[in-house]
Amino acid sequence: MNIKQTENKYFMHTYKRSDLVVKKAKGQFLWDDKGKKYLDFFTGISVCNLGHLNNAVVKAAVNQLSRYAHVSNLYYAPAQVNLGEALAKKFNGKVFLSNTGAEANECALKIARKYGHQTGGRYEIISFNNSFHGRTVFTLAATGQKKFHDYLKPLPPKFVFADFNDINSVKKLINKKTVAIIVEPVQGEGGIFTSTKEFLKGLRALADKHNLVLIYDEIQCGVGRTGKFFAFENYGVKPDIVTLAKSIANGLPLGVTLANKKFGELFTYGDHGTTFGGNPVSCAAALEVVRQMTPKFLNKSLKTAKYLREKLENLKKKHSIVKEVRGLGLILGVDLKIPAAQIAAECLKKGLIINCTHNTVLRLLPPLTITKKDADAAVKIIDVVLSQV
Ligand code: PLP
Repeated sequence: MNIKQTENKYFMHTYKRSDLVVKKAKGQFLWDDKGKKYLDFFTGISVCNLGHLNNAVVKAAVNQLSRYAHVSNLYYAPAQVNLGEALAKKFNGKVFLSNTGAEANECALKIARKYGHQTGGRYEIISFNNSFHGRTVFTLAATGQKKFHDYLKPLPPKFVFADFNDINSVKKLINKKTVAIIVEPVQGEGGIFTSTKEFLKGLRALADKHNLVLIYDEIQCGVGRTGKFFAFENYGVKPDIVTLAKSIANGLPLGVTLANKKFGELFTYGDHGTTFGGNPVSCAAALEVVRQMTPKFLNKSLKTAKYLREKLENLKKKHSIVKEVRGLGLILGVDLKIPAAQIAAECLKKGLIINCTHNTVLRLLPPLTITKKDADAAVKIIDVVLSQV
């Protein structure tokens, strides 16, 4: 049996994989089992923001692994505490470390529910149509896409859904039982939609007025992808809780929930926990990620982002099939008038890894380290493929 047959035989059929068999990866490139080289503008879904196998990140992780991999959260691991300190200081709050994005959101939502429990039995949480918050039952319930809900009903109470960038639709949903709002500053899986400043300001004002917990899910758009460490820094509107995962350890599993001082004090011993959360190897890697995300580095990546965006806008002028180019920094979507999956598949054949989301959107999530030359090469491939439609 070849690798595809073996996977098909032994794995649950949850992922529709492409034919790519990855042999090795470095920087913005990866190679398949036949030695073919690809330009990776997807970074494993916004994970390897510093490129594959960033030297200093690998060194930090290996250094930790050579001492120990795991000790449990019943003891102190310096790598974990050092990372927690760095992140908590950045947000000016407190941190809980887990393993994945879904867990980071689960933690945030549990804090909100505990706050609701303490303040009159409130439990309703406002989320948004088109959102994505993870694959656990609670985070799927928070996800504003019906296709995920069907076989899970009845869902845990109670999420209600407003329209993204429409503050009036949020106002209409607030009642005595409402306790929180969860929003992605840039919707990722939903098709790369960027929130407006007025919208986030409006959410902040509503949260303050009605004593709600404002949660930003920055699992896909955080950690430098928008040109700032936290996406919300582009807006100057701070949430009570922010969640990170994916790219925080540049390829190793780690989830982060950061809460301001008020909500960071809410959990007490036994309220929450996880065996693997804040794994020391992941934390050592993440500390190096945080160290590398300097304003100088991020500004440089923003310049390349601007260049890439302009090139994509030119594609819109050239190909009538391109409806819109959207995004912020290096989370970019090219919305087409036709399904995008086949376009992404053709790009793959020509050596460019991008993805299709929300049916018609080509999603580009390149490493923040790409050069203008990489941007040119990627756009050229997309251009050729669009010309053949
Ligand atoms: N939230 C957002 C915005 C995401 O994009 C994702 C994953 O795509 C998640 C949460 C879930 O993260 P994970 O797959 O690590 O559980």
